[in-house]
Amino acid sequence: MKILLTGGLGFIGSHTAVDLMERGHDVVIADNLSNSKIEVLDKIKQITGKEAKFYQIDICDLDALDKLFEENKDIFGVIHFAGYKAVGESVAKPLMYYENNLISTFNLLKVMQKYNCKNIVFSSSATVYSPKNVMPLTEDADLGASNPYGRTKLFNEHILRDFQFVNPDYDVVLLRYFNPIGAHESGLLGEDPNGIPNNLMPYICKVAVGELDHLNIFGNDYKTKDGTGVRDYIHVVDLARAHSLSIEKIIREGRIGFKVYNLGTGTGYSVLDIVNAFNRVNGDLVKYEIAARRPGDIDECYASPKLAEEELGFKAEKTLDEMCKSSYQYQKNNKK
Ligand code: NAD
Ligand code: UDP
Repeated sequence: MKILLTGGLGFIGSHTAVDLMERGHDVVIADNLSNSKIEVLDKIKQITGKEAKFYQIDICDLDALDKLFEENKDIFGVIHFAGYKAVGESVAKPLMYYENNLISTFNLLKVMQKYNCKNIVFSSSATVYSPKNVMPLTEDADLGASNPYGRTKLFNEHILRDFQFVNPDYDVVLLRYFNPIGAHESGLLGEDPNGIPNNLMPYICKVAVGELDHLNIFGNDYKTKDGTGVRDYIHVVDLARAHSLSIEKIIREGRIGFKVYNLGTGTGYSVLDIVNAFNRVNGDLVKYEIAARRPGDIDECYASPKLAEEELGFKAEKTLDEMCKSSYQYQKNNKK
């Protein structure tokens, strides 16, 4: 089937493009390169031996999106990755986040209706859950985002839910990602944030290759086994497969309606677990210091992955060691 990936040159989109292409689907990618590089297109080709059709467009440009659909009337479904994703930046530039992350969805739904494309998978996040929930998080846990980025995810979820309610012939799948890390085993695709990383694994990788001196661990007095924050890290290659499984469930079942799935492993690891695993697997490369808590962080956050397993047949397979190894491998290949 022909699948459109908005933001398909980004971290998760590029791995999903590979997975879909390896399963025999045709992939069209639309990306404005605001947080990715054109070289990724060639890397996808190197891995799969196949070419994805690429449009360098902004999804907020309705005419350009219309033209893409005009030229690809047989698009079966859309996986909507495109969006800004940095929490801190969203606090500093809320309008930029609301505009990009919401207008892109409005445009997509308008154009999909015009061209009779009825299937959409949306990149949501565990950040839509209220911090007051008890772990593990099930899909029916209370919602409540605490920053503009998280609110764009939550608003998009509401928009898509309301849209599907009055358009029951549409299939909408919300995928709530926990903490995606790792990289493709080829070492060609991975996460390459601009500037100093905010997230744990990209920061650790930059310390490991000597671009940063040491890791600051944000707090060791959380209510966790070793005092450092606990999260549910999932390998991006596993995560990518869950997108293909969502699309293939729609293909297989015809109509699935509105669905929400957590994508995590169900296992929580602390910051110290991650640093220790990274050093064990890659050599003793990462020094750390205990620093103050980062505002807004919670003690622990991990998924119940049961629903995705039952309904999508999805189970994360890759280990923490594989996540640490592949992340470092990619960082070494892309050393500045
Ligand atoms: P990413 O920044 O690597 O990829 C997003 C891609 O979208 C980039 O290639 C960027 O150039 C493109 N893009 C952004 N705005 C666009 C626009 N208006 N038009 C066209 N292209 C546009 O991010 P990622 O980590 O691959 O995340 C993909 C999606 O998953 C995002 O929506 C993100 O919010 C969500 N998500 C990510 C994480 C994570 O930790 N990485 C966690 C939960 C949810
Ligand atoms: N973290 C840290 N130092 C860093 C970056 C993150 O100690 O430089 C911690 C953070 O406090 C949290 C965990 O690592 O407990 C995961 O943080 P990340 O930003 O990767 O993901 P999120 O907080 O969005 O789940």
